Amino acid sequence: MTVPEISLNSGFNIPQLGYGVFKVDAADTERSVLDALEAGYRHIDTAAIYGNEEGVGRALAASGIARDELYVTTKLWNNRQAGDEPDKAIAESLGKLGLDHVDLYLVHWPTPERGAFVHAWQRLVAFRDQGLARSVGVSNFLIPHLEAIGRESDVRPAVNQIELHPAYQQRELTDWCAQRGIAIEAWGPLGQGKYPLLEEPAIVAAAAAHGKSAAQVVLRWHIQEGRIVFPKSTNPDRIRENIDIFDFELSADDMAAISALDVPGGAGRVGSHPLDVN
Ligand code: NAD
Repeated sequence: MTVPEISLNSGFNIPQLGYGVFKVDAADTERSVLDALEAGYRHIDTAAIYGNEEGVGRALAASGIARDELYVTTKLWNNRQAGDEPDKAIAESLGKLGLDHVDLYLVHWPTPERGAFVHAWQRLVAFRDQGLARSVGVSNFLIPHLEAIGRESDVRPAVNQIELHPAYQQRELTDWCAQRGIAIEAWGPLGQGKYPLLEEPAIVAAAAAHGKSAAQVVLRWHIQEGRIVFPKSTNPDRIRENIDIFDFELSADDMAAISALDVPGGAGRVGSHPLDVN
């Protein structure tokens, strides 16, 4: 299984498809990550707050896969943005993962009421310079948050990881990022199973036309849009299904029909709004 790579503005490449472990129980994480690695995934997306970095680390070690073939992302949690907390937090995450560096380290949410995300960003840039993270980026940042770090730092985030799926496309934000070379990582690429995407007639029709599942069609739509995705499942069959999307291509009409599912006014959002997380 060859997963395409995207070039980041940091000079490093990232596999366009990975495996996300949000809400994977700590006790199940090693097994699920090993299932994903066996299925061909090489990119794992975790976070300190997921409580499962140790399980990810155990799976990476047990897999025997060379470090330079793996791509590991983790994230700085909200209550650790100020002072020297980011320095302690990355050391803890690396210890749990059993790694001397991550490939990508993200500020998880801007938490604007805390007033510390610009400082946190500057610490991430220092971690990049120290070799603790190859690339650094942000998550759930809106345009004003990106502008705020741009006023204080010459380093642009390599990625912005945001909720994005056919019902919630955030086009103004993604266009803004595209113009500045900030890659988009789509979290909740399948709508977290909360939005009934997989029954949408346009998606069901494309799935039938290509002999693929509705989930595969949605993931393929993201890939052809140039985004990075890491769908989550603990079901080994679905883990394999979600990476088996590189042997077909959606037509321009399929792509347009799926893009037309964006719900006006941002009403298709299934997760938290970045201004509400503090
Ligand atoms: P997702 O859209 O990947 O949905 C996961 C759910 O979709 C599963 O629980 C399952 O019910 C269903 N599913 C998975 N594969 C399927 C298939 N083949 N067929 C049918 N149903 C299927 O949602 P997610 O887990 O929230 O997002 C993916 C990853 O994004 C996370 O694991 C995490 O790594 C990341 N994430 C980041 C943030 C953030 O704030 N930065 C927030 C949420 C998630």
